[in-house]
Amino acid sequence: MLVSKFNEDNVNQIFEKFKGFNIRLEFIYPIKNDFYSKKYVNLMYDKSKDFVKPSLCSFEKFSKYNNCYKNVLAVSCDGLLYPCIMSRKLCLGSIKDFNLCEALINSENEGYPFLCRNKIEGCKTCHKRYGCLDCRALEMSATEDNVYGMNFCALLKGYRHE
Ligand code: SF4
Repeated sequence: MLVSKFNEDNVNQIFEKFKGFNIRLEFIYPIKNDFYSKKYVNLMYDKSKDFVKPSLCSFEKFSKYNNCYKNVLAVSCDGLLYPCIMSRKLCLGSIKDFNLCEALINSENEGYPFLCRNKIEGCKTCHKRYGCLDCRALEMSATEDNVYGMNFCALLKGYRHE
């Protein structure tokens, strides 16, 4: 369910009505728009909703790889390649100009799958880093296109966003 200022008062009612279904909340985030839900803004900064239970498997993955960019590649309808469907500012080239392997070899892509939390300032010393999911595209939007940026974490900011 996508939460915005237009439906924020219906969230509880919808949860109640569809009890038993696996409803996940997604948000319009407060980045250059006025449509986000002020009522739910603390939840957007609450990373605990994105924590996975640490295990050997999650340690193996999160200590080396980015939770999204690992094993993912997006191709737009016009043939442009991206590390994921949301990361439209990280174009890796076009399959019209190169074949897929060439486009990947000649691009920045080699680094993106390895953009783990150990490379992000603030996260690299956080005890939650091997079980915390994030969205680089979202963080880029909030940090002037910094692929290493981190904005949506109350733990890191040390306060709750009001
Ligand atoms: S500092 Fe980084 S790793 Fe730690 S909870 Fe926040 S986003 Fe997750």
